[in-house]
Amino acid sequence: MAIKAIRGFKDVLPQDSTRWQQLESTARDIFNTYGLKEIRTPVLEKTEIFARGIGEHTDIVEKEMYTFEDRNGDSLTLRPEATAGIIRSVIEHKLYAASPFLKLFTMGPMFRHERPQKGRLRQFHQINVELFGSASPLPDAECIAMAWQILRSFTDAKLLLEINSLGCPKCRPLHREALVQYLTNAKDQLCEDCQRRADTNPLRVFDCKNEECHRIMRQAPLVKHYHCVDCATHLGQVLDFLELMDIPFVQNGYLVRGLDYYVRTTFEIKSPDLGAQSTVAAGGRYDGLVKMLGGPDLPGVGMAVGVERLLLLTPEAEQEGIDLFVAALGREARETVTPWIAEWRRQGLAVEMTWDDKSLKAQMKQADRSGAGLVIIVGENEIDEEEAILRDMETKEQENIPFDAVVNRVLEIFE
Ligand code: ATP
Ligand code: MG
Repeated sequence: MAIKAIRGFKDVLPQDSTRWQQLESTARDIFNTYGLKEIRTPVLEKTEIFARGIGEHTDIVEKEMYTFEDRNGDSLTLRPEATAGIIRSVIEHKLYAASPFLKLFTMGPMFRHERPQKGRLRQFHQINVELFGSASPLPDAECIAMAWQILRSFTDAKLLLEINSLGCPKCRPLHREALVQYLTNAKDQLCEDCQRRADTNPLRVFDCKNEECHRIMRQAPLVKHYHCVDCATHLGQVLDFLELMDIPFVQNGYLVRGLDYYVRTTFEIKSPDLGAQSTVAAGGRYDGLVKMLGGPDLPGVGMAVGVERLLLLTPEAEQEGIDLFVAALGREARETVTPWIAEWRRQGLAVEMTWDDKSLKAQMKQADRSGAGLVIIVGENEIDEEEAILRDMETKEQENIPFDAVVNRVLEIFE
């Protein structure tokens, strides 16, 4: 029996890879306009990085990580998200030493052992941004703006940007106390997971999909009512900057994030067209995380775009044809056209020819499928006459071109 891919792991097939490439290049172009540089870190890291960086009592660390012992007995984990590994690298290479600000992006696969469904895979891909070195509200706004721009330039679907602030170590404990109190009183009505979360990670109860929990949380104390002056000011300024950048948003006091390390700004961009897995991009501020992972006290803010979810909102890409197809009949003809094709390719033209000995009819069929606008035909007659036929596939017009002029004639057409 043929072996299949692992559940939740998907191939990107040739007919789909065009959109992936377009998305990646659009994102790169946008990141360039914000002065970001690319970083690429390994997909495998020591488990500790994620346990410490994401938080022991998060869904990811509790039940979603691909963790295993390698042959040396070290505990390793396939990265479930990008931030912890990037911070590990920033600290290891002291990337912060050269400049007070560090603006990074990366793209690649993440791994989480979740129940596969539409928009939820076990290997999925993210486009990530991490901006280090400033606690100002501007990088928060720029981060959100980049996510918004990538999504907006790739889909016409309805998008909703939701923003909240989770407070800071100064004001959050006060909220936590009130929330724990509230949850203790309502404990019997919470689902099993949330009864546990009520002690370990009470903020996460806001994120529960269970309807009863949801109903209870509608009355729960919100962080925004406990914001200190600095947090309130910070949030207000992020929103001001978004307005100045012409990015529409709504505030959502119930929005929390699945990772422990977020402080202040958190955001999600959702699309109602996606059904249950509606969040396409998400992110927030994580001051304190770099220090916690053993580095200097460097503030940071980041975001992730879920590639597969975004592509669910995008129509299929049109397949682009090649520039030129060469139909050569017989060995001598193939040898005649080979140096021409080599030169055209060196000049950047997309050129194909038939590898095998095929009839003219079969080759023209292949030319048709290739989407080429022009075809060069060289058969026995043409070899005798030392003239190639140039055929326009749309108008069906043909012209004869002497062998010694054909390379330049084609290059002129595509100039
Ligand atoms: P969710 O609530 O959907 O599980 P999350 O809070 O776990 O999301 P993040 O860790 O914030 O997700 O990841 C950022 C983005 O990555 C998500 O908004 C989503 O687009 C994408 N993403 C996360 N998990 C998956 C997955 N298992 N499959 C596909 N995309 C995912
Ligand atoms: Mg999740």
